[in-house]
Amino acid sequence: MSYCVNCGVELQKSEPRCPLCGTEVINPNELKEEKPIRPYPAHVEHLDKNIDRRYIASFVSLLLLIPLFTAMLANILVSKQLTWSYLVLGGELVLFTVFLLPMIARMPKILYAVIDASAVSVLLLLIRVLTQSSWRWFLLLGLPITLLTTVMCWFFAMMTLPKCKIPVLIRFTFALTCIGLLVVAIDFFISLYKNAIAWPTWSLYVLFPCLVLASSLLILNRRARVKEELKKRFYF
Ligand SMILES: [Zn+2]
Repeated sequence: MSYCVNCGVELQKSEPRCPLCGTEVINPNELKEEKPIRPYPAHVEHLDKNIDRRYIASFVSLLLLIPLFTAMLANILVSKQLTWSYLVLGGELVLFTVFLLPMIARMPKILYAVIDASAVSVLLLLIRVLTQSSWRWFLLLGLPITLLTTVMCWFFAMMTLPKCKIPVLIRFTFALTCIGLLVVAIDFFISLYKNAIAWPTWSLYVLFPCLVLASSLLILNRRARVKEELKKRFYF
């Protein structure tokens, strides 16, 4: 039985190279052996997972048309015109842009964020028109919260990219701080909607734990030994 000199993985007798790290195997005792037969198949099929996912997402998108048409048909039969079924259309639009579009089309992350925010805004606009409510909640609550959440999601998406060089603990610090600040912003917009600009109240219960956690992560990040240990345990 032999082992790779570089990574220590156990090797088959026939292996000319380590299957894990690619280090050449030199065994002085087996030099005289003719080319041995490798116990692995010579040809390995590589399945393209992207095509598979795209196919499934397109199929699910088509399936979404069934509840949409059913709702529209029911709406026309009952009310003689399209009214509430527009909400189904808006909801499905959001579902499609948030979950299915990233699997079907490849484009820059910022474009996904813009499309998602537009879809949610369209849904909010449909709700406003159909319920004939005032513009105030749309402009003071719906739109700003949607935009802020979108910017935050885009920011998180950028931080999860493999090319992002920020240490993982710092990324979590950023994320926690962002979540805390978003909740404070939501609190602010709600008080603005109620016609009173007030000191944030309930959102502080979210902000403070987030900040405490974030700063402890920051401290952890400064300790090289803890960082190394975390790296080993979570395979960062
Ligand atoms: Zn090896």
